[in-house]
Amino acid sequence: MTSKDYIEYIELVTKKIEENKDYVTELDSITGDGDHWANMNMGFQKLVESKEELSAMKLSDMFKKIGMLIMSTVGGSSGVLYGSAYINASKIIGDREYLDIKLLCDVLEEELNAIMKRGNAKPGFKTMIDSLYPAVNRFKLALEKDLDESTALRELKQGAIDGMNSTKDMEAIRGRAFYQANKGVGHLDPGAVTMCYQIEVLVDYLL
Ligand code: ADP
Ligand code: MG
Ligand code: MG
Repeated sequence: MTSKDYIEYIELVTKKIEENKDYVTELDSITGDGDHWANMNMGFQKLVESKEELSAMKLSDMFKKIGMLIMSTVGGSSGVLYGSAYINASKIIGDREYLDIKLLCDVLEEELNAIMKRGNAKPGFKTMIDSLYPAVNRFKLALEKDLDESTALRELKQGAIDGMNSTKDMEAIRGRAFYQANKGVGHLDPGAVTMCYQIEVLVDYLL
């Protein structure tokens, strides 16, 4: 993926988020404060507004700028977490102009590590990490086994979907659901859902 391709992907994610307004808002109303959809939508709309500028940038500069735009536009936990993810990922991209499958895997792993560090959270805490962690691990394993690209990408997607679904029965250890009487049990984590959307759209774009 070039910067231009990446911004095409960002536009597709923005559409996916737009389409799921009621569902994501409802999930965060039950388990949190109800603003997760609005936060994510605001951030992605801002990226789309800046698409000309972003797609003309060097890949690493574009990642850094995306992170800064998200951090300054999105209130709430997700703004800081996605902001850190993109800013840290920009550092490992360096001078490379093309996101191939191997670099994509490294970028996603770096994003995962940035989110875990910034949020002081691990898998199993009922957060966005629960979609990203199994997705990255299955993707990495598939690439290590030298499976073909499309199989590896399908592993990435299925990891995110299974991970998202696994948050339903989890008791929250981070995020606002921790303060709910039942710790969000019985409902998917909204951040895990929107993380899964981003991975699904990415894989569908690449396949
Ligand atoms: P806020 O909770 O501040 O209103 P959002 O509603 O935008 O922010 O985002 C909530 C989502 O952020 C949660 O559903 C969860 O997935 C994620 N989240 C919250 N706290 C953490 C954390 N410490 N580490 C990782 N993810 C977190
Ligand atoms: Mg919220
Ligand atoms: Mg909030």
